[in-house]
Amino acid sequence: MDILAKRSPAILSRRGLFLGAGASLAASAALAEGMRHAAPRPAAAPRSAQAHGAPAVAHAPVKTAVDGSEAALQRLMAGNARYVAGRATHAGADIVRTRQVAASQSPFATILACADSRVAPEVIFDQGLGDLFAVRVAGNVVDDAILASLEYSVIHLGSTLIMVLGHERCGAVKATVDALAGHGSEEDVGTRIGALASLITPAVKAVPPGAADPVDVAVSLNAAHAAAEVFAGSAPLRARILAGQLRIVAARYDLDDGRVTPTRALA
Ligand SMILES: [Zn+2]
Repeated sequence: MDILAKRSPAILSRRGLFLGAGASLAASAALAEGMRHAAPRPAAAPRSAQAHGAPAVAHAPVKTAVDGSEAALQRLMAGNARYVAGRATHAGADIVRTRQVAASQSPFATILACADSRVAPEVIFDQGLGDLFAVRVAGNVVDDAILASLEYSVIHLGSTLIMVLGHERCGAVKATVDALAGHGSEEDVGTRIGALASLITPAVKAVPPGAADPVDVAVSLNAAHAAAEVFAGSAPLRARILAGQLRIVAARYDLDDGRVTPTRALA
């Protein structure tokens, strides 16, 4: 299975329209279901000028933009493969790169990840300074501030790929699962943790009854739901997705083996 194929609806594109229409949780669920079975394509394509450079413009050839998104995803997955294999290069993670990117930035990808201390995008994708626009919040949820950050990375910095990265044993997701089951923590009383949990609640409620590992299912659903929220919530990003200039991928990070698994194709 080639998850990076253009026909993959796991990546929001023209074929991913259904996800944006009301941010369907059913579609999110199906999307998340595929996460466990995806396998990344090993080839690492060179970074294209589109991935490096200026924001895509409306009249840009779609093929060029799509190549940018695909190259970005392949670069991410190649970096994660190096990390998992213990062959990380740590390129660009030094004072030399610090100086190179001091004046400007053109990250090739945007990562919406959990704030969990074990899920550091630059580390697990083996990327350097200036490579990734990393937006991190507990539970990798989408609110106005997060959505604005994602928009900025695409519209002003030229990123052509947004990856929403959920992760195994996510504490924010587990807290939401526990709270909905009536086992909320007393220590959360008076905090804003409930507000965060409310953003994760739709994914938790979509977990099929009897799921063997409801937290892990909710993690995948939550990432897919956030991707759908981005599509539904931002008209400029949605326009770029429909024009083939931007893709959104939901993915799951495995804390045990370090592997990032994007969603597989639905159709
Ligand atoms: Zn987490």
